[in-house]
Amino acid sequence: MSNEYVTPAPARPALPVRGTTARFPVRRIYCVARNYADHAVEMGQDPTREPPFFFQKNPGDLVPGGGDVPYPPATADLHHELEMVVALGDGGRDIPAEAALERVYGYALGIDFTRRDLQAEAKRLGRPWALAKAFDGAAPCSELVPAAEIGHPERGRIQLTVNGQVRQDGDLAQMSWKVPQIIARLSALVSLAAGDLIFTGTPAGVAAVGVGDHLHGQLEGVAELDVTLTRPAA
Ligand code: MN
Repeated sequence: MSNEYVTPAPARPALPVRGTTARFPVRRIYCVARNYADHAVEMGQDPTREPPFFFQKNPGDLVPGGGDVPYPPATADLHHELEMVVALGDGGRDIPAEAALERVYGYALGIDFTRRDLQAEAKRLGRPWALAKAFDGAAPCSELVPAAEIGHPERGRIQLTVNGQVRQDGDLAQMSWKVPQIIARLSALVSLAAGDLIFTGTPAGVAAVGVGDHLHGQLEGVAELDVTLTRPAA
């Protein structure tokens, strides 16, 4: 088989890594839904009844390092969800929770942008809400910080401000499922591999943002992320 393609090969999405010019190549993006009890409550769910579940974004949805993001089409209710992101340096299937952290390359801070109106309509009609979560610019993500440098954060403030006003203010310790359990559960559903990212869910306070808004996220001891919503792409 030749190494040539019949159309131009798409660029491989990648994240910057603190302390090196080398980048982290991204294979798949998984996201955990409703992983903070107070966010589950604000979404109208009983956090004691439903275990967290997964959905996906596309690697091409990433906005590496943050920056300008054009307001996406087909929505009038774009919500921010600030989340810790886990980057895998190794994978496998049926990974036991006790061995899961060995697979983690590092951590980052991301925004799971959500077209909430499309999601609500899909829920109402019993349709998939994939396109409420996966679209151009849907996944701004900070530089990665290697676990070799900072370890595996289990607590720490995760806070988002919009134009200087605090919108989300939580702590990693509030996560219902911790990173080892997330990796163990996900690896029972799919094969995980180096290059996979996992958005680990958001604390309460999700709300709409609009053109011109500046979002600043910080995850204590890990990373910061800045995003500005610009006019829709032509
Ligand atoms: Mn989310």
